Amino acid sequence: MDGMTRRTVLALLGAGLSSAAATAQPPRRPVIRTLGGDLDPAAIRGTVLFHEHLSMRFPLDATSHYTDDVALMAEEARAAVTDGLGLIVDGGHPDMHRSLAALQRITKESGLPVVASGGFYMQRSYPPELDGQSVDAIANTLVADATRDRLGAFGEIGQQGGVLTPTETKVLQAVANAQRRTGLPIFTHNPYLGTRQGAADIPRDAALRQLDVLEAAGAVPAQLAIGHICCHHDPNAEIAIALARRGVFVGFDRVTLAIVPDADKVVAVMALVEAGQADRLLLSSDFASARSLKKNGGAGLAQTATVFGPMLLKAGLPRATLTRILTENPKRFLACTPRV
Ligand SMILES: [Zn+2]
Repeated sequence: MDGMTRRTVLALLGAGLSSAAATAQPPRRPVIRTLGGDLDPAAIRGTVLFHEHLSMRFPLDATSHYTDDVALMAEEARAAVTDGLGLIVDGGHPDMHRSLAALQRITKESGLPVVASGGFYMQRSYPPELDGQSVDAIANTLVADATRDRLGAFGEIGQQGGVLTPTETKVLQAVANAQRRTGLPIFTHNPYLGTRQGAADIPRDAALRQLDVLEAAGAVPAQLAIGHICCHHDPNAEIAIALARRGVFVGFDRVTLAIVPDADKVVAVMALVEAGQADRLLLSSDFASARSLKKNGGAGLAQTATVFGPMLLKAGLPRATLTRILTENPKRFLACTPRV
């Protein structure tokens, strides 16, 4: 037996058997990873919003914020469930002062499933040590965060200006790397091109260049949402259509916010739908205004469906298409097979 003990042989046989059994198993069904557990997408009823905020500090150096009142946010979440909201993704992470404990309390008290996200926001929010770290080191941090905190996505991953800083490029590459290791979806933040002239220092194709970096680093297009495309003055939806044709989701995720008037966003949505890309569209509102709280007379967390949805219907979008955009598209984006 060449020095091999019977026990070693049995152990090797056992390892062989168990790996054979593992390969014979059917693939695991995709899930949406929420703080309350992994959910079967088919079991989620109602609107799914892929980019909102339930806990943050903004501006980033603010010493207080309305979301500090966690009981209030749980109350708002409960009201949103009554408005038909079935699941919400919080787009914050530690460098935006998102509190995981707050999200856990909100989901528990409201019954609204919450997906927590990981990542780094943009150059001005980065912890100082990030500039000196390698892509691999940043990816290791992201994978560790996703594992420890049961994150269901990486986002919002942003850039401050029209051209990526070297560290912003590294963060995008690290997020793509972390996606390959965890299986989690990614959503991004793009600079706003909201005026009719655009913003002079922002290249019109900034979102496409952001996608270039993610793709080159190995991000999976089907689990990628390029965000804030509704903040481009782009009535023919040229950038949105170009993104959709590359197989990614297109985030119109600042609806009801005024950088671009909602009426113009409706025109761009209809252009995207007419181009045959309705299945690539994601809607959300990037909720970040105290004025929009129900408590203050606003439409609340479900405003994407309750305020923007009717505008699309009025413009001629079939109700079945709207329902698909608000429910099936975000579930397809979020559904994954987590490896952590
Ligand atoms: Zn956001």
